[in-house]
Amino acid sequence: MSVIEHLLELHLVDRQVRGLRSRVETAEIYHRTQQKQLEDIESQLGQLQQQCRVAQATAANLETEGNSMDARIEKFREDLKLSATTKQYNTVLEEINTLKTERGQVDEQAIAQLEQAENLEEDMKSLDGRITERKTLVVSAESDLNERRSEVSERLNELEIERAKKAEAIPPVVLEVFDQTADDYEGDTMAEIDEIDRKRLEYSCSSCNVSLPFNLVNTIMSNANNVHQCEGCMRILYVTEEVRGALVTKK
Ligand SMILES: [Zn+2]
Repeated sequence: MSVIEHLLELHLVDRQVRGLRSRVETAEIYHRTQQKQLEDIESQLGQLQQQCRVAQATAANLETEGNSMDARIEKFREDLKLSATTKQYNTVLEEINTLKTERGQVDEQAIAQLEQAENLEEDMKSLDGRITERKTLVVSAESDLNERRSEVSERLNELEIERAKKAEAIPPVVLEVFDQTADDYEGDTMAEIDEIDRKRLEYSCSSCNVSLPFNLVNTIMSNANNVHQCEGCMRILYVTEEVRGALVTKK
């Protein structure tokens, strides 16, 4: 068997290996995406919980402050009863009124903080719902991934052994070219030579359509151990029996 024939066989197995691996990779990517989205929502929830705790603590502090203001107002009311002069009475009354206004403001602030905490709790509930949904997706993505892994693993092992055997038949330098091209084109390594015009001896690469000099086509055809890459796309060029037959007949 020629090097090109070995390469074409390797190419077939290599594509199958890549196909199976990519089935698992697709499932891995999906699983990772779901997991990441779950983590994002959980982190949002953590932030809301923190904001909610701050709002509740602020409301509690304001309540304490309000209670101490109430006590001071009560004390002023006692003072009011003991006022000896109208001036004294008015001064204390003014203190009470100022304090009452401030007390009202503190109350408003406390209510605003409590409302904010309640809104945050609503948002947290909706995030909880989304977390539950996302967890279901993560679990199903995980089981899908495991299923694919086990489906594929046996066949993939067989194919990898086969691929290694096929690769042994190929000279290391050529194998390096093959592996590099296969990685670059996700397994689409080999390009057949297209016959464009038989009379004019015009040929091109079937993958990238670059036109190929007849000398090159002739070299490739004269010896199937000659490995040449297309100058346009770097795939390994080969001649099909059909094109070869046509040329031989012509000759
Ligand atoms: Zn090409």
